[in-house]
This record gives sequence, C-alpha cells and structure tokens, in this order.
Amino acid sequence: MLSPAILRQSAFEVGFDDCGIAQACRIDDDADFMDQWVAQGWHGNMAYLERNRERRYNPQTLVDGAQTVIVCLLTYEHSGHDYHRTIKSKLYELEALLLSRQLITPTAQQNKFCDSAPFLERRWAQKAGLGTIGKNHQLIHPTLGSRVHIGELVLTEQTDWTERQTQETEQVPSPCDNCQRCIDACPGHALGQPQWDARKCIAYTTHKCTVCQDVCPINISLTDTIKPK
Ligand code: SF4
Ligand code: SF4
Repeated sequence: MLSPAILRQSAFEVGFDDCGIAQACRIDDDADFMDQWVAQGWHGNMAYLERNRERRYNPQTLVDGAQTVIVCLLTYEHSGHDYHRTIKSKLYELEALLLSRQLITPTAQQNKFCDSAPFLERRWAQKAGLGTIGKNHQLIHPTLGSRVHIGELVLTEQTDWTERQTQETEQVPSPCDNCQRCIDACPGHALGQPQWDARKCIAYTTHKCTVCQDVCPINISLTDTIKPK
C-alpha cells in the first residue's frame, strides 16, 4: 500500500520538484465542463479533444482497475529541452524505487503519462493537492509557480488514505483573486471570456507564446529563487 509521505520523499529523491497523489475516480465535474467547452467549439482545431473523452475523464479506462494517480512536477528549469523523455525516465526511476521499498507490488498494473495520453493533467495535479488552476489556465503551484511540466503514474496499487497528504492548496487563497494581469496581457484575447478560447491562443495556433505565464506575479517572484539543479 502506498504511503503518501514516503511517496513524496521518493519523488524528491529521483529529482522531481513535487509530487502528490489522488484517488483514481472519474472526474464528473470536468467531464461536464469539457463536454460543454468542446460543444462551444472553443477547442479550435484540437479535434483529438473530441475523441476518447471517457478516457480523459476516467483513469480506470487507461489502466484497468486503477486505484491511484501519482502526479509529479518538474520545473522547466530542471526538465531540459526534451521534457517528455526526462519526465518519463524519472517516472521509471520512481517506480523502481517504490518497488524496491515494497510500496508497490510487482504485480501492480500501471501506466506512465506525460503529454502522451488523453489525460487532464492540470486537473489531476490540482486533485493531487499540487496547486490551483489560474486564470491563465495553468497549474499554479504555491511555491513553484506555473512553469512546471506534469507527469503521471496511474496504477492499481491502493493508497493509505489514513495518512492523507497535506492538501496545501485547499488552505491557501487563489493567487488570482485580485489579479487579471494574464487576461489583460494576452495578445490573442484568449483568456477570461469566461473560459480559455484555444482558437485565439497563439500558443495553440501559430507560435510559441508564454505571455500569460511571464506576467504572472507568482512566476515573477520565483524567477530569482529557482536555480537549475
Ligand atoms: S497573472 Fe494573476 S490572474 Fe493570471 S494566473 Fe497569475 S495570479 Fe492568476
Ligand atoms: S499562451 Fe499567449 S495567446 Fe495563449 S492564452 Fe497565454 S498569453 Fe494568451
């Protein structure tokens, strides 16, 4: 059985910047939201979002009998250019470490994801207590900000919920309460109406754009404090 505290410590040992854990249940609220968002056509040309919807909402369709979703974060600074490979590699390391510590059994079924599955990654990170989702539609971690990549390990192993991890984000107010800098600065006017409109988002249409992260005071305050490992 997984111990959230030892899991988190193990994730730090393999180089992740934070790690949380969530119960692998269907996320009904997100399913309703996503269905409406797609129905409005706000997903633009991301036609893949119209497919495999149940797989996005229910991790048990990705791993038969899934009980637990482990969500790991790695800051941009620590993930390098090929972040998919870096995160996948660390997820394998984490799995090996958990096996060696007998926190998961060799027969546990699992799968690892990083931008590679029909998975609502930010939402799962939020459910795992790793932050809130800001008005810029990024995960905002209380101490790492939003410049993080997300990787997941979905597995059939059960978690010891009596040792519930601290849900830090449930105790802190959203940093967005008195702010809308990302909405005002967005060159495509893709934010705040009231949802993110992918059709207007420059990052999803033509070019790389990080304006909504660059202007976020949470990230600005971290710029000088996060250094490469
Ligand atoms: S810029 Fe302000 S409103 Fe936008 S995500 Fe950051 S804190 Fe929230
Ligand atoms: S990536 Fe750029 S265009 Fe897209 S929402 Fe953020 S600021 Fe707007």
